Amino acid sequence: MDRKVLVIGEMKGPKIRNVSLEALTAAKQVAGRGEVISAVFGTHSAKQVDLLSQYGAGQVYIIEDSDYDEYHPELYTHAVVKIIQETQPDVIVMGHTGNGRDLAPRAAARLEIGLASDCIDINLDASDKIVVTRSIYSGKLFEKKKFNSVPIFLTIRPNNITPIRYGSEASAIPYTVEKPALTLLIKEIVRRAAEKVDLTEAKVIVAGGRGVKSAEGFKVLQELADVLKGAVGASRGACDADYCDYSLQIGQTGKVVTPDLYIACGISGAIQHVAGISNSKFIVAINKDPEAPIFEVADYGIVGDLFEIVPQLTNEFSKILL
Ligand code: FAD
Repeated sequence: MDRKVLVIGEMKGPKIRNVSLEALTAAKQVAGRGEVISAVFGTHSAKQVDLLSQYGAGQVYIIEDSDYDEYHPELYTHAVVKIIQETQPDVIVMGHTGNGRDLAPRAAARLEIGLASDCIDINLDASDKIVVTRSIYSGKLFEKKKFNSVPIFLTIRPNNITPIRYGSEASAIPYTVEKPALTLLIKEIVRRAAEKVDLTEAKVIVAGGRGVKSAEGFKVLQELADVLKGAVGASRGACDADYCDYSLQIGQTGKVVTPDLYIACGISGAIQHVAGISNSKFIVAINKDPEAPIFEVADYGIVGDLFEIVPQLTNEFSKILL
């Protein structure tokens, strides 16, 4: 079956987020020979048309308006609903990011259509029905959901799909939409300067737990992360102890991450933490306690003091990578 699929592109400053390119690849897969279109918002939207077309968009709706530079729930929901009503897609895909988590259910509810969030895989079964895979019960089980009817809204977990370059050409469609009366005023957006690389999109994460013992101790992890061009994350234990900001927390009540390499330093491996890392390709654990549960989920384990091991890793990797 040929489907029309709309990808909601998401910007991070002047650039499109990588997860939006992943969403385009997923969209191409379910579209068959159908059409993949995209929508992108804000001052820098027009500059994204080439890139979005290379990754498979045939048409790109652009709302080139600075009011959309920052995510606003009401403005975005209104615009996305209008674009969906106008383009009538069978499937709408966007990243399961902070904004995606907010926008997708709002738009789906407004349109009274189905939503499957945080999908880690989107496929077609033998009868060409869309089947999505989601992890449930804190990552202990995977469920597959089949959709018998469209339209549906899907959000995809970042870092799960390798974006494919198709090299097509897209036409840009400048779009204007009247703005709704806003009931919600965003007074301030606080950005964490510490987050050099977005945790949810990072390929390498060096994470610390209570075993890191202090905010100062996290500098050792940052040095390794810098050499590996990765991000620093943390367990809730470390955040609760005030060693780092809660924006770094990974796990059931923190961020779900899917890096190629996750290095857990001084983290015991509580189930709530593992819920956020179980989709990592490789997990390396460094812990003094050989019985620590983190070793049960780790691909490689190093028993020892992180303050001896991490600087050695930084030193060795910098010889190869710098
Ligand atoms: P600890 O359990 O104290 O472990 C510290 C580890 O460091 C130990 O294994 C120790 O052997 C090791 N260590 C100490 N010194 C060194 C050293 N020098 N070198 C090497 N290793 C050393 N937790 C999360 O992380 N994310 C969540 O999202 C989350 N959500 C939760 C939700 C709920 C509802 C609940 C109840 C709990 C949640 N938790 C979450 C908390 C979770 O249960 C654990 O308490 C927490 O993950 C423990 O953090 P930790 O591993 O850093 O600390």
